[in-house]
Amino acid sequence: MLTCETCGNTYDKAFQVVLAGRTHVFDCFECAIQALAPSCGHCGCRVIGHGVEENGVIFCCAHCARHGATHGLRERIEDDTVAGVVGAAGRVPGGSTAVGMAAMTEV
Ligand SMILES: [Zn+2]
Ligand SMILES: [Zn+2]
Repeated sequence: MLTCETCGNTYDKAFQVVLAGRTHVFDCFECAIQALAPSCGHCGCRVIGHGVEENGVIFCCAHCARHGATHGLRERIEDDTVAGVVGAAGRVPGGSTAVGMAAMTEV
């Protein structure tokens, strides 16, 4: 009897997966995927096939690899976040408040 490290179920048909020298125990493949499968660098889905590796990042398919490789995942997320925050708050009072405060601290 082995205990699944993802859900804690104790199951007589549990199996072990050795990844990078470490042994993991799971009661089903779904739990193994949840714990060990990489996530696509673009869409975030679980990569359970070979996937596509681009600059050390794993993607689920060629489309995601192309998209992720063009922009770079981290840059994309940061750009989107900054653009979203600035776009939403910048035009509203936030912008003028920041300018006003900067002027006040200068004086
Ligand atoms: Zn499980
Ligand atoms: Zn993807």
